[in-house]
Amino acid sequence: MSSVMPGPPAAPPLPGPPIRWQTARVLAIHDETPRTKTFRLRLPHRTRHMAGQYFVLRLTAPDGYTASRAYSLSSPPEGPDGSTMIDLTVELLDDGEVSTYLHEVVQPGDELEVRGPIGAFFAWDGHGPALLVAGGSGISPLMAMLRLARNTARPDLVRLLVSVRGPGDLYFADELPGPETTVIYTRTAPPGDPRGVGRLTPSDIAPLVRGGETVFVCGSTGFADAATTALLAAGVPTHLIRVERFGPSG
Ligand SMILES: Cc1cc2nc3c(=O)[nH]c(=O)nc-3n(C[C@H](O)[C@H](O)[C@H](O)COP(=O)(O)OP(=O)(O)OC[C@H]3O[C@@H](n4cnc5c(N)ncnc54)[C@H](O)[C@@H]3O)c2cc1C
Repeated sequence: MSSVMPGPPAAPPLPGPPIRWQTARVLAIHDETPRTKTFRLRLPHRTRHMAGQYFVLRLTAPDGYTASRAYSLSSPPEGPDGSTMIDLTVELLDDGEVSTYLHEVVQPGDELEVRGPIGAFFAWDGHGPALLVAGGSGISPLMAMLRLARNTARPDLVRLLVSVRGPGDLYFADELPGPETTVIYTRTAPPGDPRGVGRLTPSDIAPLVRGGETVFVCGSTGFADAATTALLAAGVPTHLIRVERFGPSG
């Protein structure tokens, strides 16, 4: 669910075929952390997406029962013609109906029903400056934005701050580091980390704010609310903040 905060005009949706259900094939499954996997899917048709958009994934049981969940694309947009390949990065939730099935049952070669890309409000076109603030699995759509900035040789446009419990919970750990990224730890920090541990505060955000940039916040409801409060305290105007909430607080 995206926030209803007033903001700059949303980027126009990309032209293309109507969004319909497609049967994708799982090409590869990659462990990001012990509780997170990235699923690389091949779509039957080329798709153009914007960084920040998501797909809906639908599971259907033999008795016809269905369960649908939204998953952000962690892969960046691929050129003007789009791509048949997308990455969805999924955190395993205890007792989670869909995430548990994806983690414990789905294998490379399996087929999955998906529909997208969806969401023009929480999307970055790769042009203006952006501050990206992620909690846990909220890194997924923001990783697509970071990858887009790096792929287009404009890493200077983005600053990314990600909050995780400990070093073992950091997604994309090999790829993430760079001058444009900051990691903060809430429970366990690596030895020698000067910040120590603790939840996100305005003093984490303030040094990253340049003024005038669009801010994308993504994570659990609790994280998104805390990050928005910290952003406002750091002087970021409400109309520049876009929020995507993945689920309950925590
Ligand atoms: C626009 C959008 C994009 C999303 N993108 C991603 C993504 O890229 N990666 C990803 O892992 N998830 C993402 N989500 C969350 C995802 O859609 C599911 O809600 C999540 O995978 C849980 O589904 P489930 O069927 O496993 O759990 P459910 O069976 O729905 O819920 C199981 C339990 O977990 C709780 N719960 C549900 N969702 C969450 C949550 N997000 N955090 C904490 N507790 C929760 C429920 O209250 C319940 O107690 C996104 C959500 C939205 C709205």
